[in-house]
Amino acid sequence: MKAALLVEPGTIVIDEVPDPEPGPGEVRIAVGGVGLCGSDMSVFSGRWKAPAYPWIMGHEAFGVVEAVGPGVPPERVGQTVVVEPNASCFTCEQCIRGWTSACVRRQSVGMNRPGALAERLVVPGRLAWSMPELPAADLVCVEPTTVVLAALRRLEAPLPDAALVVGLGGQGLVMSLALLARGVAVSAEDLNRDRVAFAVRSRGAADGQATMAAVSTSLSTRWARRHRWPSRSAASRSAARCSAWASTVARWTSALRPWSATS
Ligand SMILES: [Zn+2]
Ligand SMILES: [Zn+2]
Repeated sequence: MKAALLVEPGTIVIDEVPDPEPGPGEVRIAVGGVGLCGSDMSVFSGRWKAPAYPWIMGHEAFGVVEAVGPGVPPERVGQTVVVEPNASCFTCEQCIRGWTSACVRRQSVGMNRPGALAERLVVPGRLAWSMPELPAADLVCVEPTTVVLAALRRLEAPLPDAALVVGLGGQGLVMSLALLARGVAVSAEDLNRDRVAFAVRSRGAADGQATMAAVSTSLSTRWARRHRWPSRSAASRSAARCSAWASTVARWTSALRPWSATS
């Protein structure tokens, strides 16, 4: 199969690698699409060290099950699935305390097991969640959306009437939409004015009610000073990369409503 191989920090080449074979309990997915996020950028830059080079990155994936390993019902072949990228053991001390993200045996697609930027991906069958027919642009947003919904669930407090979302990358946009879908008045801020304008415009396009509003820039200025934020041009470049993704995220408003009722 073809795969995008990170051969060293900052360098990706497309090359042929052997097809992965599903082991017991695993499924092999013909990858349909992969989202990119900040974690991928960390692996790409070398800030998060890949376990080996060449390395296949990518964890926000969807596709179609094309083969199953022993112990997985053959009926799963043909299912459209999204990948839950992080598998915790549920038996270590951290897992038992409920801190599954700190699991000492955590397996993470694209981080410490081969990722999805390839034609085929093998994951445990329980991490391949079957999905209804949705456009590819929506399926690729499912994983980041679950991150947001899990964060809201873990709040363990009633949602406020109004909230400020700081940062309008992919997660900030989905968080804004999730809050809006639950009736929270959202103000949103980002150092990049184009991102703020895009968020307001997208929300307006989604249902004709632009309730998202930019707050003053003082917060972002203080933020920039403290965190030595990248230059305006670097921020603009990353905004351009995000805008294709963000345009699909904006279309998730309607999909979030039924989800929020059950999450
Ligand atoms: Zn991610
Ligand atoms: Zn664990």
